[in-house]
Amino acid sequence: MAGDGVPPVMSDSPYGLAAVEKEIARACKDAGRERSSVTLVAVSKTFDAADIVPVIAAGQRVFGENRVQEAKAKWPALMQQHPGLSLHLIGPLQSNKAKEAVALFDAIHSVDRASLCEALAKEIDRQGRSPQLFVQLNTGEEPQKAGIAPGDADAFIKSCRDVYGLTISGLMCIPPVDEPPAPHFALTAKIAARNGLKLLSMGMSADFEAAIQLGATHVRVGSAIFGKR
Ligand SMILES: *Cc1c(COP(=O)(O)O)cnc(C)c1O
Repeated sequence: MAGDGVPPVMSDSPYGLAAVEKEIARACKDAGRERSSVTLVAVSKTFDAADIVPVIAAGQRVFGENRVQEAKAKWPALMQQHPGLSLHLIGPLQSNKAKEAVALFDAIHSVDRASLCEALAKEIDRQGRSPQLFVQLNTGEEPQKAGIAPGDADAFIKSCRDVYGLTISGLMCIPPVDEPPAPHFALTAKIAARNGLKLLSMGMSADFEAAIQLGATHVRVGSAIFGKR
């Protein structure tokens, strides 16, 4: 329909999305999984509406942001113009932003300490809104990285449930950049399984196929869709 008054595409992001979709479909097929078992979270951090709108127009509905303030500035208008979007927080959350996060996001992938659990429980109760929650693991036990150490995971998940009354749906991990990711994905899957958690947020632009092979239900893909940040 080119030439029928359709505005020119000003962004490469729809092509990135199509390429990523194709790779996800292939990875699902290779792993013997249904395409519908993997949610693509398109990570739009640092990109503005001009880059995001074409991706929505191409059919993408689930987006990820790593900062509450940035998401608050960009997404309420987009969500009003495009009903049916789902927004995920994939970056660290300060307890004093729990109120805004519970109001804005449909999922939070970065639950990683007791004080945050307490703040989230309070806001979920107060707002009557329950974003899906993932506990973030620090599988590489990297000092600069957020997340629960694998050895503390079972106890932390139990306290989320028993002490704070939170429903935890899954686990999230970010493997160390300088290591093969597969062992980290496998460890995350194992800890999820023994805690009865069904969702696995793992895999980014460089490694989402390996993550799908190892059971990822949510892949968080930014640069492969939107380009370099
Ligand atoms: C930025 C980010 C991503 C996406 O990374 P890409 O390499 O651009 O795909 C995924 N997860 C988290 C937690 C991020 O901060």
